[in-house]
Amino acid sequence: MNITNLNPDTDIGASSWLVEMDNHRILLDAGMHPKREGREAAPQFSKTGTHDVDAIAISHCHHDHVGALPLACRHFPKAHVLMTELSYLLVERVLHNSVNVMTRQRDELGIKDYPLYTHDELDEIAPLFQGFKYNRAIEWGAFHKARAGVPSPTLEFFDAGHTLGSAGILLRGKKETMFFTGDVCFHDQTLLKSARFEDVKADVMIMETTRGNRAVAEGFTRDKEIERLVEAIHAAQKRKGCVLIPSFALGRTQEILAMLALLMREGKLKKQPIYIGGLGRVFTEIYDIEAHRVHRSHSALQLNEALQLVVLEKGQADSMKLSGGKIFVITAGMMSENTAAHDLAKRMIGDERQSIFFVGYADPDSPAGRLKAAKLDETFVFSPSAGRVTKKCDVQEFDLTAHANREDLMEFVGRVSPRAILLGHGDEPARNWFAAQINERWPKIKVIQPQPAKLVTV
Ligand SMILES: [Zn+2]
Ligand SMILES: [Zn+2]
Repeated sequence: MNITNLNPDTDIGASSWLVEMDNHRILLDAGMHPKREGREAAPQFSKTGTHDVDAIAISHCHHDHVGALPLACRHFPKAHVLMTELSYLLVERVLHNSVNVMTRQRDELGIKDYPLYTHDELDEIAPLFQGFKYNRAIEWGAFHKARAGVPSPTLEFFDAGHTLGSAGILLRGKKETMFFTGDVCFHDQTLLKSARFEDVKADVMIMETTRGNRAVAEGFTRDKEIERLVEAIHAAQKRKGCVLIPSFALGRTQEILAMLALLMREGKLKKQPIYIGGLGRVFTEIYDIEAHRVHRSHSALQLNEALQLVVLEKGQADSMKLSGGKIFVITAGMMSENTAAHDLAKRMIGDERQSIFFVGYADPDSPAGRLKAAKLDETFVFSPSAGRVTKKCDVQEFDLTAHANREDLMEFVGRVSPRAILLGHGDEPARNWFAAQINERWPKIKVIQPQPAKLVTV
């Protein structure tokens, strides 16, 4: 089979892979690079030649996996877009939001390429989208008109436990199989339970490596981490400052809200309103509505009933009083410019009463990454629009990740025991860690780190 990594960068970047198997072609993911701007952020679809693909399959609805889907549909106009049922409920909302964000960035930052696609275009491609249950074999070629009746390989979605609707994707050809992990989580989160990849066996695997440069600390448990967070929130409230927990709108926000709701129910946190973003509110509603058919804990917990959720209005992040122990669970996780998290943080960084608590991955080159890296009292450039700021507030990191720990991923590699493994969706040091470990433990497995747009034959 042939596999091409279409990520425009060598870092974690945008997830997108072209796979050719038994004379059939499929695109796995069509993400947008979170740090790049304009067309530079999109996968390199133009490097795939002039052939169409039979189908596009999406692992989950995070922007770095789905944000360039309309561009993929433009490049492969006959392809149907296959995803899980739960992703089907989310995908259009994510993409319409992207149009809004890009339009704002064009106006405020002068990025002329934006928006890369429009609301109308989304409405035009929406009929190509199809949602499937987990663990069903789907003949992906059958969706392409010109190839109807030609037997094709199949694909199957496996619950990845990372965010609502997330999936690993297994491709079964005549002779060989290929498994794409997508983003995966092998431990239970507060709501979502761990991935169900038990039955996965594959000859070739494309694996995410997000946490390859990070070992789990000795004695670490998620419960202890949550206790530490509670103490930090209490300390912030004693100072009468506020707490900002920057979180991606889909997944991270709902996991944090669930944790806060349970802590309030147990009396460990005082009952108080929680400020969230508009998109976070929409996804919270979907988490509540779909609670019964998701592999999760606390399926009777309705976040909207358990918590007093207040949606932050436009401009409020710039003007509201930052006192009284308010808690914000606000997008975006990397604090990119033009987000509420960025605008709140800009006001909080220089104030020692305030607290900013990170609970997930932040790219070192993002505003969140720079804030994490800065020392107390250090002056640094937070973002082009915020300029130089001096770090006075309490910044802490809590490991409540939705990505698999590297040891768990290694165990998974051993279970799948592919003959070749392609490392992706991680920074170079993270990929190198996996490459070295796999070489040492299973020297027969061929480890490949595919460079952008280079076709790999395995
Ligand atoms: Zn993700
Ligand atoms: Zn990702």
